[in-house]
Amino acid sequence: MQTQFLTLSNNNINEFPEDGSSTESRQLHPPLDLAQIAIDSANVGIWVINAVTGEFMPSSRTKELFGFAPDEEMTFDAAMQQVVEKYRQNTIAAIENAYKKQTNLYVEYQVIGLHDHQSRWLSITGGFTNPDLTSSYFSGIVMDITQHKQNELKRSKFIGMVSHELKTPLTALKAYVQMLSNWAKKQKDGFATGALSKVDKQVRKMLNMINSLLNLSSAEVGQIHINKQLFSVDELIAEVVEETLFVTSSHHITITPCENIQVNADREKIEQVLVNLLSNAAKYSEKGTSIGISCKLQGEMVEISVLDQGLGIAQEAIDKVFLPHYRVESKETEKVTGFGIGLYLCSEIISRHDGKIWVESEPGEGSTFKFTLPVN
Ligand code: ADP
Repeated sequence: MQTQFLTLSNNNINEFPEDGSSTESRQLHPPLDLAQIAIDSANVGIWVINAVTGEFMPSSRTKELFGFAPDEEMTFDAAMQQVVEKYRQNTIAAIENAYKKQTNLYVEYQVIGLHDHQSRWLSITGGFTNPDLTSSYFSGIVMDITQHKQNELKRSKFIGMVSHELKTPLTALKAYVQMLSNWAKKQKDGFATGALSKVDKQVRKMLNMINSLLNLSSAEVGQIHINKQLFSVDELIAEVVEETLFVTSSHHITITPCENIQVNADREKIEQVLVNLLSNAAKYSEKGTSIGISCKLQGEMVEISVLDQGLGIAQEAIDKVFLPHYRVESKETEKVTGFGIGLYLCSEIISRHDGKIWVESEPGEGSTFKFTLPVN
């Protein structure tokens, strides 16, 4: 983004000409004084980009948040240089995208202050004053959200620790239930076999949930570890379908296999993706309907699809279903339990494998979730 520098001597937004020409906004717009009090009390920084000239005007508090002195020059590019490298590209892209499309901006990122070398988490919001670019300003606020982020991180670490502690005894329980189940079958004890099969299903469901929580916590602290190994996609699909049918026998699942395609990926994590997609396909469609899972080679990638005949997803929700904690709110979905983290984890896992995940859907027409992975 081409922006030039313009100094603001303090944090007083009355100094911004309201319509791009007048310098008398203080007299003309008394409510701005109230806005100033609100801004000062929230200790937020403000910034403005003149859409006509491209001038970038950060307030002194904005400069402070980036570690600059209040009366020092700070260009847009200099501010972006303070963003921690792994967030920089996304942050610039989000700002440019909102600027070009004139949509509202919200982005969170970490900065290291220029002079104070302090690590801070900042959130930035923005929007256009009016749609006419010949007299418009793109402006918003910058807020220090470090405390909030640290609390989030603590919560994620706590969830990770608890789920790890729960996973160990549950894994042992699963093994003992399987041993008992084999023994009951040999004894031809129908009641014990039936009861143990139900215990087994519940233990597997709990293990799936705990694995999701573990992955969520890893994703939030930015540490999803990928342990790659070579495996056959067909074999994994067959295993996951068998497991899904064991836990959820309400749907008919058909497999369209691909010819012995090998991928070098984290088998357990890709299994988790397939389990999530299949269990969503079952959760969001009527009992007795069909679910299809297929895979095919697309150049250097293998494409895996999970198709259902369920509720489908409205166009405006399609881009959001992969966001953390997002759930479609409707009469039909309110009966279905969930935390809105399954698809977020799928997208994190697939992006760590340099693949893509997306959904094609129409309300009432079912959905097809697809993802790709590089072939070995
Ligand atoms: P959860 O199912 O726990 O709510 P997910 O992250 O797996 O969380 O899914 C997010 C949202 O996407 C769901 O709440 C649901 O509204 C929608 N969704 C996911 N899969 C499907 C599907 N197969 N059909 C229709 N809607 C779906």
